[in-house]
Amino acid sequence: MRFEKLSNCYEKLSQTTKRLEKVEILAKFFENISTEDSDILYLIQGDIYPAYDERKIGISNQIAIKAISKAVGTDSKKVTALWKKIGDIGEVAKKLTNEKKQTTLASHLLTTKKVIDNLRKLPELIGKGTVEKKIALITELLTSSNPTESLYLIRILIGDLRIGVQESTIKYAILKAFFKNNKEYEEDLQRAIDRSNDLKEVFEFAKRGKIEDLEKIQLQVGKPIKAMLAQKAENIEDAFKHLGTPLAIEYKYDGFRLLIHKKGNIVTLFTRSLENVTKQFPEVINYIKEFVKGESFILDSEAVGYDKETKRYTDFQAISQRIRRKYNIKQISEKLPVEVNVFDVLYYNGKNELETPFKKRAELIRKIVTPHPYKLIYSKMKITSNEKEVKEFYKKALKDNQEGIMFKNLEAPYKPGRRVGNMLKLKPEENELDLVITGGEWGTGKRSGWISSFILSCKEGDKFLEIGKVGTGIKEKSKEGVGFNELNAKLKPLIIKEDKNGIKIKPKIVVTVHYQDIQRSPNYESGWALRFPRITTLREDRGTHDIANLEEIEKEFINQRAKNYKYG
Ligand code: ATP
Repeated sequence: MRFEKLSNCYEKLSQTTKRLEKVEILAKFFENISTEDSDILYLIQGDIYPAYDERKIGISNQIAIKAISKAVGTDSKKVTALWKKIGDIGEVAKKLTNEKKQTTLASHLLTTKKVIDNLRKLPELIGKGTVEKKIALITELLTSSNPTESLYLIRILIGDLRIGVQESTIKYAILKAFFKNNKEYEEDLQRAIDRSNDLKEVFEFAKRGKIEDLEKIQLQVGKPIKAMLAQKAENIEDAFKHLGTPLAIEYKYDGFRLLIHKKGNIVTLFTRSLENVTKQFPEVINYIKEFVKGESFILDSEAVGYDKETKRYTDFQAISQRIRRKYNIKQISEKLPVEVNVFDVLYYNGKNELETPFKKRAELIRKIVTPHPYKLIYSKMKITSNEKEVKEFYKKALKDNQEGIMFKNLEAPYKPGRRVGNMLKLKPEENELDLVITGGEWGTGKRSGWISSFILSCKEGDKFLEIGKVGTGIKEKSKEGVGFNELNAKLKPLIIKEDKNGIKIKPKIVVTVHYQDIQRSPNYESGWALRFPRITTLREDRGTHDIANLEEIEKEFINQRAKNYKYG
């Protein structure tokens, strides 16, 4: 397909904020995509592979500027100056391409295949001359682009497509294009997406127009699927009311999620944001091989840190540095050991267990795991209908330094990637949100040269909306909590723009923020502001899709009002 068709589709999508219209535009577009061109499903998501794939385009603004300057034959200083003025590097490419097109006529036709071929070469490049080769690959695409194509090419390259298309938009468009919008098929389609976690694969099967064909999409060991998420319970009574009794209660461990895949002798580990962390946890690989029976399986678990001497469990922050560690892995695994707590099984010896009731899955875990405390165990669980018993369990969980407890409906299936009502969490009342840093300000005096205050954003669809500014909670030294050095080292390479209003930062770094309360506010684009926010944890295990959205923030606001009313 010509890339022009896709970029016109991007343009139409970005011109409306209405989801139904987006679905309509996409559904029409999908009808014209042949199976050979189905990689377009990745391009629609601003990517070149499924989201869990680690091969990312990863182009800096500087490289994009150099490629634009080569393609349009303008000095890169001029391109940078224009970027500072316009503030959007994609628009800069569009403007300059437009000016150039008035003087040159010849241009090759760009196809989506050519775009994806060139983009896929980018992450493969390593070693000497990489930057020049990258610039050449991008320049080749830009010289064949019309102004709109160049705008979207640059946006894909810098990871900021902004067309407001989410996974659910694509799901509804597939339903409309290939299943006559038959809502009865929605759940089947959703389950196929859950098992596959790859919209290109689902698209190819769906294109045949037979809903039964989607059953052929199966879970695959080694290919991560999204984790199931919990909703909040107000209190024990509320959990009983929503889930029925008896129900299962488990510790809500304060570590990080580890999705474990094993096939034969090969074990692969993924975080909640589906990042592959196999290399970082060699001791866990051994535990799995030694203490879990089975030829092939997918398990869901939480890895929790503990103090080697006292055996006290530590909080997430204490072990967070293990997740991205690239060197001295053995030393750090000895210094900061983890215990793996298995709490679910999604696939076992060739059988998909997603639809199996939780009670049966929990029984299976207890059959296949031989617990070895401080290495690998199954989660502490109780089946109960007794409020008093839950209270004691909850107290014990907090005493053991864990976050709280989970309530689980015994009959429920495992629903990947959704905040489901059949798993509820109860934690001590704390006002906290996971947010992403999207901007900041340079410090002065002792902190000059440092980014010293940070703009926090929540999300709405694929947009990031500011909700507050924070300068406190960050410590001088990393050991005492989230450190200035650490945060600055991570944020500085992500700076997109700088001017008198401050710094704009590419949304990537997720933090947990504690605050006193939420207020409605016209000062921030989200319409909300946090009072007295403090950054408490750098969430290396989370990505931007894990951060709070507007609906969750509104819920927090309503809860806060209810509490104030009750106690005020
Ligand atoms: P929080 O910030 O409270 O951890 P969250 O939004 O990150 O909440 P939830 O969906 O509320 O995540 O809770 C699910 C997370 O809880 C999982 O990602 C997992 O890491 C963790 N967890 C700890 N113990 C359990 C357990 N026993 N069962 C399921 N999830 C658990």
